[in-house]
Amino acid sequence: MRTPLIAGNWKMNGSMALVESFGESFARAPLPAGIDVALMVPFPYLGDAARAFDGTPVAIGAQTLSDQPSGAFTGEVSAAMLADFAVRYVLVGHSERRTLFGEDDAAVLARVEAALAADLVPVLCVGETLEEREAERTEVVVLGQLEAVFDALSAQQRARVVVAYEPVWAIGTGRTASPAQAQAVHAAIRACLARYDQTLAEGMRLLYGGSMKADNAAELLAQPDIDGGLVGGASLKVDDFLAICQSAG
Ligand code: 13P
Repeated sequence: MRTPLIAGNWKMNGSMALVESFGESFARAPLPAGIDVALMVPFPYLGDAARAFDGTPVAIGAQTLSDQPSGAFTGEVSAAMLADFAVRYVLVGHSERRTLFGEDDAAVLARVEAALAADLVPVLCVGETLEEREAERTEVVVLGQLEAVFDALSAQQRARVVVAYEPVWAIGTGRTASPAQAQAVHAAIRACLARYDQTLAEGMRLLYGGSMKADNAAELLAQPDIDGGLVGGASLKVDDFLAICQSAG
């Protein structure tokens, strides 16, 4: 009922040559039917990616956006600019944005609203640190980040969001959450969404991110509340990324 989504987040990696080679591989490789695939590339490659993936099932995503529509905000990129590049998805609240760039819940909400206003699909990232997990605060932290956004949205807006659970301790560390650990948090997120609306909870795509690789993706994606993946490092190698896409089919 929920279409799986595999999204690659290149972060500040990649090159024009990598965009081209991904485009060529995806034009040749048949992706499983019935899944959505997206690649979140750095801003300068959005135009090239839109061209390289034209005619393939891969949608283009961005990694962040401004909360402002336009104006004197040197270095920022607006939602409308992303929409000009045929961008469909945009990450919001990635843990690297929260910790390295000081984006708090209010900043995350403002960006989700900006994305929705431009008809982009915000991929709202939530997740706890190792310290928070060890203090048994995982649910408080994750659901707090979720509610900080969902409380402020209308029912219509909520239905257009994708949520990604990325435990901070699993990002780029090679230490993946076990399928049971990930499933438990995904189930808690879905139960929280059901408090807004049962239909919303049933339809919402919940992605797992954090050291997802070709050899652990199938087990994670087999969990009942895991509807896809947000893949960092392994999305930079086309064979690995294609293998993860295959496991979602
Ligand atoms: P890794 O897959 O490299 O752990 O990164 C996960 C991530 O942060 C995706 O947004």
